[in-house]
Amino acid sequence: MSFDSLGLSADILKALNKKGYSKPSPIQEQAIPAVLKRRDMMAAAQTGTGKTAGFTLPILDILSKGKPPATKQVRTLIITPTRELAAQILDSVETYGKYLPLTATVVFGGVKINPQIKRLQKGVDILVATPGRLLDLHHQGAVRFDDLEILVLDEADRMLDMGFIHDIRKILSYLPSKRQNLLFSATFSNDIRKLAKTMVNDPVEISVTPRNTTADTVKQWIVPVDKKQKPELLAALTHKHKWEQVLVFSRTKHGADRLVKQLDKNQITAVAIHGNKSQNARTRALALFKKSGVRVLVATDIAARGIDINQLPQVVNFDLPNVPEDYVHRIGRTGRAGEVGQAVSLVSADEIKQLRDIERLIGRPLERRLEDGFEPDHDLPASNSNVGVKKSNKPNSGGYKKPSNSNNNGGNRKPSTKTNYRNRNKNKKPSSSGNN
Ligand code: AMP
Repeated sequence: MSFDSLGLSADILKALNKKGYSKPSPIQEQAIPAVLKRRDMMAAAQTGTGKTAGFTLPILDILSKGKPPATKQVRTLIITPTRELAAQILDSVETYGKYLPLTATVVFGGVKINPQIKRLQKGVDILVATPGRLLDLHHQGAVRFDDLEILVLDEADRMLDMGFIHDIRKILSYLPSKRQNLLFSATFSNDIRKLAKTMVNDPVEISVTPRNTTADTVKQWIVPVDKKQKPELLAALTHKHKWEQVLVFSRTKHGADRLVKQLDKNQITAVAIHGNKSQNARTRALALFKKSGVRVLVATDIAARGIDINQLPQVVNFDLPNVPEDYVHRIGRTGRAGEVGQAVSLVSADEIKQLRDIERLIGRPLERRLEDGFEPDHDLPASNSNVGVKKSNKPNSGGYKKPSNSNNNGGNRKPSTKTNYRNRNKNKKPSSSGNN
């Protein structure tokens, strides 16, 4: 399938062509036509799937066919949990909307509010915002939602994890009830579904797993081990296989911190990223890991989501996730771009339920390999015998290939506060020259 057949306007196709995209990614194939039909949507997709273009492209198309915004009004509101993500989305909007006479801006906390108030004064077609600053601006009367046409909630699960639920509900209460709603989340927990119920109306549901999570690109196995032996086992495996860049997943923030200390005792350099760490600390840890300053990055699922680390040879599940879909997301971090990656899970007897859920989801049992000296006292019970009968999660297919040099996450990048990428009135000077 090509972008031409999705119903996007010529100006958008031109921008895609310039960007060098030849084919839509699976989520784009599904999302673009549905959004253009003005349907509500719930999409399970994480960073790397092309989800941003999945909602940005049809939104640009829709907005370009309508009326410009009135004073202080916003036509599309995109809410994201972090300023990095917000800045990154504005970047995409600017890139894909290059040839359209639309306006967009981004607002987030931690920077002066007055310039943001100024930029909102004339109204904008697209506003990308983090929740807290958006509420501030609304309370100050700097932004109005009477004419809002489309709402996007991006990375909804991370938003809830960061404690934004109250802010989100407040924002929702300020929006007109007739609007199009698009909700994106890496996973759909009960909490997300509960929120979705109050937000979307007869949504199209889309689910894509990260690419290359199939057996041929990721070698997966589990090592049965007693819980208390896990840190030693991880250290032994790291030394034995001479792993130099390992992404280790920990279910809890506390567990992640503890593990870093335990690895340290075994002369293995490690850093942790999780929700209790400041954005700066996370960015620093990630940068250190990326330039191979440390061997092990220990991450919780939420913290790992949205970070762009390409082609990691080795992923370790220090413990199994409670949500089986998270296993698929985790191992999607390795084996990218045709490389064969390895995903090893350290599994103790009390995790048999999680293991069975994962095996049911991926449709096959995971190979078990005992490590010498780490044979468990508490045996890991057998897996389900009927695994493989029902495969509930189809791996993606299609020609979408994420550019290997893309650092779409902007983890180290200073967020841009640039406003209109092209002025609606072509006779006026563009906003970057400071007239906004
Ligand atoms: P996202 O999942 O939205 O964070 O996007 C992941 C990366 O894929 C970004 O660097 C995009 O620029 C890139 N991308 C998105 N759609 C396509 C496509 N159809 N073809 C090639 N690259 C794409």
